[in-house]
Amino acid sequence: MVLLSSRTYRTERKGWNRRIKGIRVMTAIRKFGPKDPHHPSIGVKCLACHEPFIEGDYTTLVSLGPGGDPEEQKKARNGRHYNSVGVEIHYTCATGIVV
Ligand SMILES: [Zn+2]
Repeated sequence: MVLLSSRTYRTERKGWNRRIKGIRVMTAIRKFGPKDPHHPSIGVKCLACHEPFIEGDYTTLVSLGPGGDPEEQKKARNGRHYNSVGVEIHYTCATGIVV
């Protein structure tokens, strides 16, 4: 698990009767890699495809939300920047782009 900077937005769509709160918006997907053979996540399984990370893989970090930290949850509720719990997955698994 890693921490990412993220932000919670409030959104409202026309025709809907209620405001939707707490929608996370990903603004950019950063590409990391290629992995060297000694990277600590070599052999760790990608949570999207369940294949282990291998040398040469490109990955990204996907934000999950504020996690269990009450302060980060409060920031998220108030639409402020917060530290998010995130997971590493293959870049291709996150974007569909084959690298
Ligand atoms: Zn994957």
